[in-house]
Amino acid sequence: MNIGIAMMSHETNTFSPVITDLARFSGGRTQPLSGNEALETYRDTASCLGGFIKIASERSANMVHGIAAAAAPSGRVENDAYEYICDSILALAGQVDGLLLVLHGAMATVEFDDGEGELLQRIRARHPNLPVCIALDMHANVTRQMVDNCDVLAGYHTYPHIDMDTTAERAANLFFDMLEGKSKPVMHWATAPMLPHVMRQGTDDFPNNQLQQRAIELEDSSCLAASLFTGFPHADIHAAGVSAVVITNDDLDHARTCANELLDFAWQQRARFVYTAEDLPTSIARARSAQQESGTGPVIILDHYDNTASGGTMDTTEVLAAVIDAKLNDVAVFGFYDPEVVEQMIHAGVGEQVTVKLGGKLPMPALATQSSPLTLTGEVVLISNGKFKAQVAMSRGLTINMGRAAVLRVGGVDIAVISRHIEPYDPACFRALGMEPTQRKYLMLKSRIHYRVGFKPIAKAIIECAGRGVCTSDYDELEFNNVRRPIYPLDHTDAEDDTTRHEFESQSRT
Ligand SMILES: [Zn+2]
Repeated sequence: MNIGIAMMSHETNTFSPVITDLARFSGGRTQPLSGNEALETYRDTASCLGGFIKIASERSANMVHGIAAAAAPSGRVENDAYEYICDSILALAGQVDGLLLVLHGAMATVEFDDGEGELLQRIRARHPNLPVCIALDMHANVTRQMVDNCDVLAGYHTYPHIDMDTTAERAANLFFDMLEGKSKPVMHWATAPMLPHVMRQGTDDFPNNQLQQRAIELEDSSCLAASLFTGFPHADIHAAGVSAVVITNDDLDHARTCANELLDFAWQQRARFVYTAEDLPTSIARARSAQQESGTGPVIILDHYDNTASGGTMDTTEVLAAVIDAKLNDVAVFGFYDPEVVEQMIHAGVGEQVTVKLGGKLPMPALATQSSPLTLTGEVVLISNGKFKAQVAMSRGLTINMGRAAVLRVGGVDIAVISRHIEPYDPACFRALGMEPTQRKYLMLKSRIHYRVGFKPIAKAIIECAGRGVCTSDYDELEFNNVRRPIYPLDHTDAEDDTTRHEFESQSRT
C-alpha cells in the first residue's frame, strides 16, 4: 500500500507584518524539502513527520514522501506560496492509497481564511475516495471544512508541544486500523465562542492541564482520539477559538457527548483563560529582587509581546531598553531578528566595537504604537553560522537554523542577533553562540510558553514582561473585525454570568 506523507504548516497571525512567502517555508533553501531528503531529515525526530514516518514504517507501508513545508509563524501566506504547496500535495494525492498530512490548523492565506480546510476540500474534490489523516497543533482554529474533508484528525495534548511525534503516531495508528478494517472511525467536532489567552494555555497550568488530561483519559477508555484545541487568538478570522474533535469507533452519540463534555469544562473555566499583564517597570523591579533572593539559576525576563512563534517581528525594543536602563548585569538575550545588524557586525569582525541601530525596523500597522530602534555601542564577541541541533523534547534531533548570527556585548548585556526567526525554547540556542545560560544572572527571552521546555527547569524565577509587538497580550490593542461575535472575553466582562450560556456550533461526520 502506497501512503503519501506531506506537511503544510503555518500558524498565521493576521496582525503580523512579517511576510510569509515560499522562502519562509524553505528553511534557508531555495525550495521546501521533499522526497527522500524530507524523509531522512525528519526520520527519528520528535516531530509530527517523525511520528508519521515511524508508524508508516512499522505498519509496512510503502512511504511516498511529498513536500515538507513549514514556516515560522507570521502574517498571511502569500497566494503563490500557498498554491505551490497545495499543488505539490494534490500531485502526491494522485499517486497514493492514503495520505498522512501534517497541518497546523491555523493557516490563513491572503485569499483564504482557512488554508487547511481549502486544501483538504481540494483533495476531497479531486480524489473523493482517498482516505486522509491529519495531525494538528493545539493552536488550530478547527473548522467544519477541515472536519468534513478528512477521515482521522488528532491534536497535541501538551503546550509546550512535547508530544508532536506521539500525536502523529496516535493518528497514524488509528488511520492504519481504519484502512485494515479494524475500526470504523466517526468524528464529532464542536466549537465554543471563546478565545483563551495564549499565556494561559500552558499545560503546566489549570485549566488546560485538566482539559488535556481528560482528553487523554477518554482516549485510554472509550474514544479512538479526543482532541481539545485551545485555538490561536491572534487570527482575526471567523473560526478562531476553542474546539473539540472526538473520534469513536462507530458511536457518534458518544463522540458528541465527549466533545461537549470537554467544551463545557473549558467554558465553565473561561475566566481562568484570561490573562492580565502588569506594567513593565514593576516587572523589571521584580526581576531585580528575584535575582537577590536565594536559589540558583537565572531569572527569566520574558518579553512575551514579541514572540516570533506567535507571529512577532522579534525586533521590538521596549523590554531590552528597560533592562539596559535598569543597569541589570550579566544578562543574555535571545534574541533580535535583525539581518542588517548581523551583516554590520560580521563586517566589523570579532573583538571590534560597533554602533548599531538594533531592532524596531518592521512597521506594525496593526498597532497604534510602534517600536523604535535602539542605538547601542558594544563589542562583537562572536560570529556564527547559526545552526544547532535541538536537544529538548520539542523537536529533538532537528537542525535549527537561525541564519547568520552574531553576539553584541553592551556593558553587562550580551545580545544574540540573528537572521532567521527562531523562538528560544532550547538552551542550545545560547550554547551555539558561546553563552552558557545556566551561568547567567538573567536571561531575556522573546517567547510566551515554549521557553518552558528548556528554560523553566534551570530558572530561579520567571518574570513576564509587557513590551510591544503583534502578539500583544493585551487584546485591547488589536482590532478584531472578522472573528465570530459574541465571543468571550471580547464581549463578556462578567465571567460568572452563566445566563450568557453559549450554543456550541457542531458537526458530525461518518
Ligand atoms: Zn502551537
